[in-house]
Amino acid sequence: MIRVTGIKKSFHKNEVLKGITLHINKGEVVVIIGPSGSGKSTLLRTMNFLEIPDEGDIFIDNNQIHFDKKSKKRRNDAEICNVRTETGMVFQNFNLFPHMTVLNNVIAGPVNVRKYEKERATEIGRSFLSKVGLSEKEYSYPNELSGGQQQRVAIARALAMEPKVILFDEPTSALDPELVGEVLTVIKRLADEGMTMVIVTHEMDFAKGVGDRIVFMDDGYIMETGSPEEVFNNPKSDRLRQFLYRLT
Ligand code: ATP
Ligand code: MG
Repeated sequence: MIRVTGIKKSFHKNEVLKGITLHINKGEVVVIIGPSGSGKSTLLRTMNFLEIPDEGDIFIDNNQIHFDKKSKKRRNDAEICNVRTETGMVFQNFNLFPHMTVLNNVIAGPVNVRKYEKERATEIGRSFLSKVGLSEKEYSYPNELSGGQQQRVAIARALAMEPKVILFDEPTSALDPELVGEVLTVIKRLADEGMTMVIVTHEMDFAKGVGDRIVFMDDGYIMETGSPEEVFNNPKSDRLRQFLYRLT
């Protein structure tokens, strides 16, 4: 589904990704964990071409995505824009359009990017709002919703583009603790339905429960990868042991 090989990325002299190779299969849920600053967000952003890697290759469904390494100038070209429609992204801070109703947030992509007629987009939008349990909020504005509800709208908006994979960057870390559960429940349901997802999270219980595979990043490298059982119960590296120990 998505394959990244040998991805390197520096910001000025700071090498943040030092050679990342990762293959995400269709229907798989890969959870990325690791300390702050280890490069998790940067990796997700390169998978969505919000950052252009300096080195390495990215394949989606075995098609190599061509981008001009060492240059950002092609980040908005047609091929990359196409890829973005196939990789939905959900951010920590929801990033909803504040001046649009919930429904219009959800149908903006289908109407403007997919060029669906409004009627068809609305039908799709409503079905995804219902899926995240927010049908009754379609005419509300983002600032009238709780953080958990806003994040569920953001998930519906990503789903409405019918992407091949959804990338989540710490989807619950901006939420009050009592609102975390409702968002994790929605993500878990998508996982159970077979949605391909890559999730960066600090919620270790959730990672264990939802992940088919856990990837531990540290200092720009993938240090360890395995099933939740392997990674959480039998960490091989000292780094991972220390990381898990610090969380307990
Ligand atoms: P966290 O758990 O805190 O979200 P992370 O693993 O997601 O951390 P990244 O956000 O990928 O870490 O950042 C990795 C490093 O890259 C950090 O040192 C950060 O300061 C740097 N970095 C990230 N984005 C940029 C940028 N646009 N410009 C300069 N430096 C950046
Ligand atoms: Mg991050």
